[in-house]
Amino acid sequence: MVKKILKFGGTSVGTIERIQHVANIIKKEYDAGNQIIAIVSAMAGRTNELIKYSKDIAQDFDKRELDVLLSTGEQVTCALLAGALIKLKLKAKTWLNWQIPILTEGEHSNSRIINMNVSQISKYLDEGIAVIPGFQGISKKGDVTTIGRGGSDATAVAIAKLFNADSCEIYTDVDGVFSTDPNKIPVAKKIEKISYDEMLELSSLGAKVMQPSAVQTAMIYNIPLEVRSTFTDRKGTKIFDQQSIDYNKSVTGVAYSKDDAKITLIGVEDKPGVAANIFDPLNKAQINVDMVIQNISSDQKTTDITFTIKREDLSNTKEILKNNKKIKYQDIAYNDKVAKVSIVGAGMVSTPGVTFKMFKGLADEKINILAISTSEIKLSVIIEQENTLNAVKKLHTIFELD
Ligand code: ASP
Ligand code: MG
Repeated sequence: MVKKILKFGGTSVGTIERIQHVANIIKKEYDAGNQIIAIVSAMAGRTNELIKYSKDIAQDFDKRELDVLLSTGEQVTCALLAGALIKLKLKAKTWLNWQIPILTEGEHSNSRIINMNVSQISKYLDEGIAVIPGFQGISKKGDVTTIGRGGSDATAVAIAKLFNADSCEIYTDVDGVFSTDPNKIPVAKKIEKISYDEMLELSSLGAKVMQPSAVQTAMIYNIPLEVRSTFTDRKGTKIFDQQSIDYNKSVTGVAYSKDDAKITLIGVEDKPGVAANIFDPLNKAQINVDMVIQNISSDQKTTDITFTIKREDLSNTKEILKNNKKIKYQDIAYNDKVAKVSIVGAGMVSTPGVTFKMFKGLADEKINILAISTSEIKLSVIIEQENTLNAVKKLHTIFELD
């Protein structure tokens, strides 16, 4: 018998009609003889709404209580889906985080699933469908925890692993993973197969289909994933191990994000330890620094250091730099209207000239590159935000993805 994990995102369970539709999808799979564990997100927009309520009470709303609040979104859809399945004359039952239990470790709102008890649910799968809320667990102390925004994907992957499932299907509101954002670039194509590494890069770099840490877990444990639409019957995108993919193109997808900011420290002392002194307090404040560039100093005494961060961290970062007594510099410059555009492809490893082609393409569009970073299978540039779509279109075309 095949054991399937089916995860349904927020839009897929966004209304009562949609929950009923999801129940029908599950019925089909169940009637075909599969064992089913369904994982659900909260109704689309619900988590944001709950966060807003908490902020109306206090900007720094208590973290423990925030997790209690946010976990309710998934519990609502969980019960509604189980009820809809029962209405279809199927046997179904919800299992909440503390009932299983799903054990987590780490801070509130940012915990990680470390284990769960599978025996009871495994037994139940012989008679019915288990429905489990995504995005949550309980700590060793027994407190309700949540596992980070978009965390239902991580729940689905953890369950696929612990239950040793045959497949893990991520149902969403698009047909799969696209070569770039199909809402903005209509020539974007659905990707049939993609490797974990590429998917990880794409989802970290701004493609919003799946939560990056869930992809990472799937990669570590080699759990094959499929991203597909709740609203069509079309085949989705299969995500698996690189070996089984045939690369005829150097680039698989173009991702972008418009939520970056760039900071330059001008005239920083050029001596050992300075970079560590700059970045240590940022690290302690959990500010994620993305790209770093240091210019060669012309006078051998001072240099300029540029780095990028998430835009939401900008004011905090400026504050920390100003209060940092360990560093000396002449001035701070910043630009909060930048975007990051990236090309991703496992085929890049074996194709020479990809870097040149990207830079030439951007140059032809008169787009100035402000910062560059590379890894084996991706190349990212920071550019002015207003050039984003132009850059994405150009790269999509020159790398033959149209
Ligand atoms: N409801 C949570 C969120 O909006 C988790 C999820 O949807 O995966 O972040
Ligand atoms: Mg989601």
